[in-house]
Amino acid sequence: MLHVVPAFDRIGEENAFAVLARAGALASEGRDIVNLGIGQPDMPTPAHIVEAGIKALRDGHHGYTPAVGILPLREAVASDILRRHRVTVHPDSVMIVPGGKVTMFMAILMFGAPGVEILYPDPGFPIYRSMIEFTGATPVPVPIREENGFAFSAEETLALITPKTRLLIVNSPANPTGGVTPKAEIDKLVKGLAEHPDLAVLSDEIYGTMTYDGEQHHSLLNYEEIRDRLIYLDGASKTYAMTGWRLGWSVWPKSLYDAARKLAVNSHSCVNAATQWAGIAALNGPQDCVTEMVAEFDRRRRIVVDGLNALPNVSCISPKGAFYAFPNISETGWKAKKLASALLEEAGVAVIGGPDFGVCGEGYIRLSYANSAENIRKALGLMNDFLARERAD
Ligand code: PLP
Repeated sequence: MLHVVPAFDRIGEENAFAVLARAGALASEGRDIVNLGIGQPDMPTPAHIVEAGIKALRDGHHGYTPAVGILPLREAVASDILRRHRVTVHPDSVMIVPGGKVTMFMAILMFGAPGVEILYPDPGFPIYRSMIEFTGATPVPVPIREENGFAFSAEETLALITPKTRLLIVNSPANPTGGVTPKAEIDKLVKGLAEHPDLAVLSDEIYGTMTYDGEQHHSLLNYEEIRDRLIYLDGASKTYAMTGWRLGWSVWPKSLYDAARKLAVNSHSCVNAATQWAGIAALNGPQDCVTEMVAEFDRRRRIVVDGLNALPNVSCISPKGAFYAFPNISETGWKAKKLASALLEEAGVAVIGGPDFGVCGEGYIRLSYANSAENIRKALGLMNDFLARERAD
């Protein structure tokens, strides 16, 4: 018998992958499946970014780079932060990582241990809880409520802090709800954090470029008073449709940077060089590809929200960010995961049950609108027929 350490009994995953695998299996049996389960843009990476990656390979960028990433890319990240958030960060505080998840992994590894509490959003990206449990720390969910527009409540978050809390994870715009936490609420949260000076904050802003209805994304980098304990997470996966390239970046406080660098040295060595050069093209190049993609998501968002609200006993608030809708299905009588499974098996529509994002996700399902308007309309029609036809058991 092999003696794998017990931590691996506690590590979780994204159940969305299981749904996607099942959707794939059904499709390979010849079933027509509309996939609203997947959390990645359905557009290709813009051509000028692809060309920069190809050029880098042709130019001979084949070797290791510094573990923290090449300087021109770290400078491009600093410029992006200045352009979008109007905040100055030094390129030496920026780290290039293989995807947004790696920043999460590093931050949770740094603070998680038995006896420690880590606050994370529920419903939220499933890897937060999985990683917290892996470290042996106690995951403490911060409920994210529909009545707050799926924004963080500063008051509720601050009330959960105890002397054992070491890390607070914030995510806005959010997966799976599409919620955006308004500036006033973040102001309140940061003000309250003054009373907890030893608490680190991980701000997952991977959907920061994707907001709608005039809603502004407000970065936690704006708060000088917490910069010495803030880990900022961003990356190219969503903004530039680059999920498979594996390119993320983070900004670290001085006191944590070297530990993060050593984690990189001990794990992936560096992000592959060609991807880093493609990242420079993404950040320094024209941004109309981002504007166009967000406009397209906005168009689909309206179709999804209108269609969901027309379904029997379903209601959906307008998500202000990311590319997800999180309709309330509690009035249908279905349990969320049962409904998601029945929709896939019987109606041919892949969605994710809310509880896959945490216990507070019961009563909801997540739909990604990273699919064509035509497919979204088709899925809504199939869902309508299904809900009109089938009774919850
Ligand atoms: N953070 C959130 C909230 C996400 O939804 C995702 C991906 O779905 C990530 C981080 C991870 O992004 P990446 O693919 O760059 O690792």
